[in-house]
Amino acid sequence: MSSETNHLAAQLARQIESGGPISVQEFMRAANAAYYGRGDVFGAQGDFITAPEISQMFGELVGLWLADIWLRWGKPGRAYYVELGPGRGTLAADALRTMRAFGFEPSPVFVEQSVVLRALQSEKIAGVEFASSLDDLPEDGPLFIIANEFFDALPVQQLVCTHAGWRERVIIRDQGERFAAVPGSQPMDHLVPPDFRNTPSPRIYETCPDAGGIMYELSGRLAVQGGAMLVVDYGYSLPGLGDTLQAVKRHKFADPFENPGQHDLTAHVNFLELANIARIRGLRVSGPVPQGEWLVSLGIDARTATLARSAPAREEELRAARHRLVDSSEMGGLFKVLAVSSTESPPPEGFAPSKLVS
Ligand code: SAH
Repeated sequence: MSSETNHLAAQLARQIESGGPISVQEFMRAANAAYYGRGDVFGAQGDFITAPEISQMFGELVGLWLADIWLRWGKPGRAYYVELGPGRGTLAADALRTMRAFGFEPSPVFVEQSVVLRALQSEKIAGVEFASSLDDLPEDGPLFIIANEFFDALPVQQLVCTHAGWRERVIIRDQGERFAAVPGSQPMDHLVPPDFRNTPSPRIYETCPDAGGIMYELSGRLAVQGGAMLVVDYGYSLPGLGDTLQAVKRHKFADPFENPGQHDLTAHVNFLELANIARIRGLRVSGPVPQGEWLVSLGIDARTATLARSAPAREEELRAARHRLVDSSEMGGLFKVLAVSSTESPPPEGFAPSKLVS
């Protein structure tokens, strides 16, 4: 779609014309709301493929992980399965089916901003409720929260080091009437951690205020109501500098500032920050560990073998899916798994002692 027929592009262009540059954060927020508002963008036929869409084994092992906590905890009565950004609802369907096999039937509650995706998810998961904000999440039982490739879709604020100091990265319209990112005019040095402040320019420091806010809220809930939260995403375990904003369309990288709302914008997740927020709220932190390690320790090899035995014609496909999810050169190394949980719940499976420095 050209920018002439892209309504969001026209709207943002007018906004910049009348009110001046907008932040990268504002641009990414508007672009992703429009992008996911379009509906089913996932899978081999769509723009990108996520772990639950690669194989049912991913959601099954997430379900097993949750059921194990619930069983060892003594089967607390009223419990909720909360998923953030459930996409097509595939992960939830596989996880809930697996939990049911262990006698665990938490009520599903989704946090999803896209109206079109909500409709798709309701068709897949009978009786699912939607929380329009985190305040609407139920308060009367432990929460079992899953976020797969959710935090990477939240808008980042980018700060760029210039010769005159740190500035917020903002979006303007260039001579060719295209969107371009440039340093803004206000000094922003106070937002950059002291260790990075004196770096040679041009460098970029990213923060994700929405991610921190969501983690803070949910950690508070887990501390009071009990439960556990699993975050799976690509990101870093130690803070660093660099521009990680990227756009993906039909499984290929695209220019993040071209055609807003037409491709998926993501940024790497700061796992250290998420873990530290949970720790401050009094939760136990497990990981992050590479996705591959986590899946192997939960038994993905045994599950692959079982499925292959019952459907020999699918053996090759199952092995390929397992490779993609687990191998360190594929998602297994790129993606990380972090768990945070209330201290009265049993320590979760799949994690070696925490490698994070606080
Ligand atoms: N978890 C799914 C889909 C990941 S894509 C999977 O693994 O396949 C990101 C999901 O988060 C989409 O469902 C998108 O609509 C939702 N999302 C993105 N930003 C959101 C926000 N701020 N609030 C609620 N949902 C959001």
